[in-house]
Amino acid sequence: MSRPINTTRLIRTYNASTVLQTLYRQGSCSRTQLAKWTGMSPATITRIVAELMEQGIILEGQAGKSTGGRKPIYLHIDHTKLYIASLKLLRDDCRAALLDLKGKILQKRELHLDTQTPEEFFTEAVGVLREMFAQAGIGTQNIIGVGVAVSGICDAQEGKVIKSVNLGWEEVPVADILSRQLELPVFIENDANACALAELWLGTAQDAANSLYLKTEEGAGAGIISNKALLSSSRFMSGEIGHVPLIPHGHPCRCGQRGCLEPYVYFGDVQARYAVRTGQRIDRDQFVALVQAKEPQALELVEETASVLALACSHWGILLDLDVITIGGFWGTFKEAVIDRCQRYYETTAKQSGIPCHATITGSSFANEDADLLGAAGLVIDRWFAPLSVPFHR
Ligand SMILES: [Zn+2]
Repeated sequence: MSRPINTTRLIRTYNASTVLQTLYRQGSCSRTQLAKWTGMSPATITRIVAELMEQGIILEGQAGKSTGGRKPIYLHIDHTKLYIASLKLLRDDCRAALLDLKGKILQKRELHLDTQTPEEFFTEAVGVLREMFAQAGIGTQNIIGVGVAVSGICDAQEGKVIKSVNLGWEEVPVADILSRQLELPVFIENDANACALAELWLGTAQDAANSLYLKTEEGAGAGIISNKALLSSSRFMSGEIGHVPLIPHGHPCRCGQRGCLEPYVYFGDVQARYAVRTGQRIDRDQFVALVQAKEPQALELVEETASVLALACSHWGILLDLDVITIGGFWGTFKEAVIDRCQRYYETTAKQSGIPCHATITGSSFANEDADLLGAAGLVIDRWFAPLSVPFHR
């Protein structure tokens, strides 16, 4: 390999990126198929394939069956050389992981935020990442990038956290701190945006052009994929829908308004309502068990949240003519009570309005604990394949 995989500019060119994306999504294909599917000339494909092979990014596999002429040789990405590091930074849950390019988690460790400064925290994180690389026998030249999913507002271009109430951080230059120590490309995104990218590259939204990931954990936030690209805005606030009132005279919210999405999805609020009704304080697992047992109070509460999520899904889904809506987090795990209800409401709304919209509403592809780690990995994959959104200096 002549140059490290993660610093080459070759793949940042539009054509090479398109070829790589096609190989990534198809698994393997011949040069003829690449020309057909990408619309590029056979000569261009031959040149790009040669360059990508020289970089050690793609390999020739076995020859396929001949359809008359020469036997086609199938090409594929060399997955044994390409890995991703990811960090998940939530209030009570910080983790690091090492993944392969297909999103398989090879190693995972907990990190401790405690009272550390961001610099101290990242020094610990870098130590943990290095340990994981060493244990897996993977050199940093084979890490295509480090993804960081953060609960908070992030400037993805500058690679910094603008503000995270949950972490107590303001203006933290995450990409600078990490890339200085690791000498790797570092990408950072808000957690909901990162999860939307994970579903786009590795999960439920792979075949969708337009999709939305609705994160329902402590609050509610959305990541929007428009024409296969993450929707971003000049103030980095797209998808910040947790405190826009949806329900007139609804439940009071911590922000001082009524009827925001947050008091319906934040489990602490639902837990408090259950306690007021029954005198019992229950945890998440108990709540899930009660819903499954169709206990009336728990059922009523899950239906209340589901009806608000159904409203949200149909408002934004029809607004954006989405193909897929993924409800991530706790509420997305209720298939019958939440997902199916949202789907029915969506279809009824579209039908009654005479709008031929259809969106598939689904839970996340990933276990709750891993969603953000996969999100950070999805972010790296997305940037690795996106020639235009990566500044060359990083
Ligand atoms: Zn609010």
